[in-house]
Amino acid sequence: MPLSAPSPFSFMLFGASGHLAQLKLYPALFTLAYKRRLPEQYNIVGFARSKMDDDSFRKLVAQSIREHVPEANESVLKEFLTHVYYRQGQYTAATAFKALHRQLQTLESGWKKKCRLVYFSVPPNVFSTISQNLRKSRIYTGDIPFCCIVEKPVGSDFKSFERVKAQLLKCFAAEEIYLLDHYLGKEAVRNLYYLRYANPVLERLLKHTLIHHVEITVAESVGIEQRAGYFEHTGTFRDMFQSHLMMIMALLTMHLHEDTNTLRERRLNALKQLYLPPTTSMDDVVVQGQYTQGTVDGKEVPGYREENGVAPKSRTNTYAALRLLTRMSRWAGVPFYLRSGKRLEKKDTRISIRFQELHPVGKGSAPNQLHIILFGEAGMRLELQTKLGGPEPAFRPLVLSDPLVCVGDCLPEHSFLLLEAIHSRQQWFLSFEEVQTAWRLLDPVQTHLGKKRTPLYTYAAGSRSPEETDAWLAKDGTSWMYL
Ligand code: NDP
Repeated sequence: MPLSAPSPFSFMLFGASGHLAQLKLYPALFTLAYKRRLPEQYNIVGFARSKMDDDSFRKLVAQSIREHVPEANESVLKEFLTHVYYRQGQYTAATAFKALHRQLQTLESGWKKKCRLVYFSVPPNVFSTISQNLRKSRIYTGDIPFCCIVEKPVGSDFKSFERVKAQLLKCFAAEEIYLLDHYLGKEAVRNLYYLRYANPVLERLLKHTLIHHVEITVAESVGIEQRAGYFEHTGTFRDMFQSHLMMIMALLTMHLHEDTNTLRERRLNALKQLYLPPTTSMDDVVVQGQYTQGTVDGKEVPGYREENGVAPKSRTNTYAALRLLTRMSRWAGVPFYLRSGKRLEKKDTRISIRFQELHPVGKGSAPNQLHIILFGEAGMRLELQTKLGGPEPAFRPLVLSDPLVCVGDCLPEHSFLLLEAIHSRQQWFLSFEEVQTAWRLLDPVQTHLGKKRTPLYTYAAGSRSPEETDAWLAKDGTSWMYL
């Protein structure tokens, strides 16, 4: 039975004028309407400081949907927009929240059963004010089913995370807070868990006795997309590693269990087992880079420091690679290399596993590899080898591959996660402990990357990575399997 929203709800979006709202959230809500997953009665109320009225806001919402949902159907869109409203106000203004409350009461009149969702699509420093105003204005009372959805990153390090957490918990109950990492809404990412669970053959291969090393690559060809204000203070390491890459690591290494209600605990346990390799120099643990001018998809693009809003001498990283180990016995001693970068040759997210060469086999042989490709040309690719004809043991690659595209009830990640929040399903949202554990692990790395004397290597936009990362990996006597 496909998941849908069973009863009326009001969805309040703070930061309604923003990039994320237009890129992901309006398209996700519309997709639910288009796929008939929404009830007859629902409201979407955008709240932000930008000057707009209902009409101009509806135009903005419609434009984002036409741009990002290829199958946008005009009659469904017209009906969808009748549920959409806008309220302009300061996040600090109690009066604006009181007015929002009055508007909600009018919009919800006659509803027998209802649920209220708020979505914080604003910088974390505004969360506290909004939360307090939601309480004071009685939009949140604790009596009506309520979800507060918070976009990652929650904080920018362990300390700021603790602050945000305390502020949220002052206003809402822990079970009403949904920390969202949109990777956990992606079918391809969830499938990592199910591929292991449903394929004992594959699961048995994931063992330190068989594995030489693992690479997890999140390569993007896009740059910072007018988000310099956010990115300058964040950088790729903070943006990608603390949440997305940690979640992939957790799903890959955690203990499996048939009860999906324990997913968060098992992910948390896997995160707790991660550690940075002991070394005398943090430069052995992490390496960072920044893109310069280059060509991506045949188009000339500026270097990071030439992007609008970026300081001419910015030291923000747009690429990072990290070595990690886990104490889990099945992975003991297996090095994990995590890397992510912007403005690379192509978009691709994959897990690449190189197996041990247990004994020399002959001419042309290469170690077995398994690639689980999550985005880009999604697929699974197992590289074996087979003998060439002739008396000598010489080999050629034997590649088994299948496109791992979603088949069935496929929804965009934010659509899926919104429905799960409505159903109070929290397993594919982050727990506070998971976020806390990730920050605790990565804070020392961030501190190191922020030091002036830590090298920041350059790479041309459209290239595969800073060249220095090859030597960095070669210290472990190996080379990149991919890119
Ligand atoms: P934006 O910078 O576009 O901000 C969203 C809205 O918040 C703006 O339209 C603005 O609305 C308001 N805002 C911005 N800065 C401030 C400020 N300093 N004080 C008060 N209000 C402010 O962010 P995004 O939409 O890109 O992202 C929203 C959140 O989601 C952020 O926390 C971001 O880190 C996170 N995120 C974003 C992703 C993306 O792809 N964009 C991906 C993953 C996470 P107004 O001025 O009208 O009030």
